[in-house]
Amino acid sequence: MSSEEKPVPSLRPRPVVDRLPRYAAGKPASAVDGLDAFKLASNENPLPPLPEVLAAIAEQAAINRYPDSLATPLREKLGEYLGVPADDVVTGAGSLGALVQILSAFAGQNDDGRPDEVIYAWRSFEAYPICVQTTGAAPVPVPVLGDGRHDLDAMIAAITDQTKVIILCTPNNPTGPALTRAEVEGFLARVPSHILLVLDEAYTEFVRDPETVNGIDLYRNYPNVVVLRTLSKAHGLANLRVGYSVSQPHITESLRLVATPFAVSTLAQDAAVVSLENIDKVLARVEELVQERNRVVAALKEQGWDFPETQGNFVWLPLGERSPEFAAAADSQALSVRAFGTEGVRVSIGEVEANTRFLEIAKEFAG
Ligand SMILES: *Cc1c(COP(=O)(O)O)cnc(C)c1O
Repeated sequence: MSSEEKPVPSLRPRPVVDRLPRYAAGKPASAVDGLDAFKLASNENPLPPLPEVLAAIAEQAAINRYPDSLATPLREKLGEYLGVPADDVVTGAGSLGALVQILSAFAGQNDDGRPDEVIYAWRSFEAYPICVQTTGAAPVPVPVLGDGRHDLDAMIAAITDQTKVIILCTPNNPTGPALTRAEVEGFLARVPSHILLVLDEAYTEFVRDPETVNGIDLYRNYPNVVVLRTLSKAHGLANLRVGYSVSQPHITESLRLVATPFAVSTLAQDAAVVSLENIDKVLARVEELVQERNRVVAALKEQGWDFPETQGNFVWLPLGERSPEFAAAADSQALSVRAFGTEGVRVSIGEVEANTRFLEIAKEFAG
């Protein structure tokens, strides 16, 4: 190597790009002789797509043409399913795509150089800090309480003149608890109406607590509420990238202006429509997973674990320093789970055999 100084490249990304946390996607499990490998690391639906959905995809041959950018038939179907005007629905490439629209339109760096602020709970969905900082806005993470619930009082206390958006994740990924309707309405009463409140309800179909907030019931009465939903989890369409937001027209108008054109392919739109036409089958599968969740939760309690209540398709084990050790033990049994630093481990509810194997590993770490 020459001792010459390397020239500083003149082409540099915006300084914020170097500061972004890395999104650590869930990995497949290591191969282990004699064991089927299972991935419980990305909260995916373990069940294969409905045959009706596969047939719809197989029939869609016109991929030389751009998709309908407004996804009109899908929005009409969603409007019917949710009981809302189709115009209140804006689709995106996954609900992450829909979240990026919201942040691009409502938060960022301003002409005076001062960044807007976006408040969210932490730990929560790993994508939030990346999406928020990319817009140029300043992230304001507010630690969750010991039981994994949002600290709503602390989130109110974090509001400043710069606050533009607050994200509530219910059920919260990765800790599990959902917010109640009373909690969210009480919160909204304290949030100035010029601040946008995003309710991320990616796991809404898995919720069984009747007190849980339903953003679709709320947004009509609150002009500053946007609800995020996805077909990635309950519908098992994670790979097709289809999600959406629901909000009042004065918001959707801005979201459509910033949306990436053609973000949702015709394959994804058709699959989503057919999945919604077969919603009874989708919900029956969700119920199977909820039954599995109940079995896993009961068994963990039996083993002596103390962990947050979960309303999603995953459980959170607050393993602290032992988190990486637990993930390694699972991997040695051909099971991939998600360790978040030295905070805890999130394990998705998957195939029955995978859940049973997870419980066997958990038993070794219990108490
Ligand atoms: C999985 C997940 C999403 C969904 O992402 P898509 O882009 O729709 O696949 C959104 N929010 C949370 C909290 C999630 O866990």
